[in-house]
Amino acid sequence: MNIEQLHIANQWLEEANMIVLFGGAGVSTESGLPDYRSQDGQYSRMEQTNEDPKKIMNRRYIMQHPEKFFNRAPNQSSQMLIEPNDAHKILAKWEKSGKDVRIITQNVDGLHQRAGHRFVIELHGNGRTSYCMTCGRVYLPNEVERDEQNIPRCHVDQGIVRPSVVFFGENPKAEDLQKSIDTIKQADVLIIAGTSLSVYPAKNLINHFKGDKVIVINREALEIQQLKVDLFLEGNVGQILAELDALR
Ligand SMILES: [Zn+2]
Repeated sequence: MNIEQLHIANQWLEEANMIVLFGGAGVSTESGLPDYRSQDGQYSRMEQTNEDPKKIMNRRYIMQHPEKFFNRAPNQSSQMLIEPNDAHKILAKWEKSGKDVRIITQNVDGLHQRAGHRFVIELHGNGRTSYCMTCGRVYLPNEVERDEQNIPRCHVDQGIVRPSVVFFGENPKAEDLQKSIDTIKQADVLIIAGTSLSVYPAKNLINHFKGDKVIVINREALEIQQLKVDLFLEGNVGQILAELDALR
């Protein structure tokens, strides 16, 4: 990446009426959250301990082995205090300054909102709340009571209370998908940041882009068959957004 590329990107962002950032794990890695699919990521760590993440982060596993699911050893990141990084802060700052910047994220960490961003679609749900698998009641963390096996239980019907996160084999909410499609359709500039685009429905959603420019910010180049990438900014998302912000 060179300074000319940054100036080009900055000009496109200045001219855009609406910017959509489609983000993945790489947006949060600078906050200390592991990139799920990278070397030191959480799922790799599970695999090292002979746990298959697809088997565990799964509705059927929670139903069949709730005592195992809710008594897993906490991973490192859940014990750390995670704060928004430059990526979240700068995007929120641009929005606050009057720019129409909309976030569609595959992350469940809520860091965009914590940084003050208003327009955020969380495709894979969030870790801030839980819900009863029997009746759907929503629970905040401090509202959930656990039984003698440490399983969170609904106080109405004793159903298992699980995180409001979209797990393997589950689909995002239809309303979130529709809102994402409507948003991408309206955007002038699409920024694809910190994601390999390997997870459904990411691949399909970006097909709806009808705007002018596609910018990829990532540590590795992406192979996107259905979309022409106009600019590839190689590196960490927070760092590159900070460099762009410095030009404004
Ligand atoms: Zn219930």
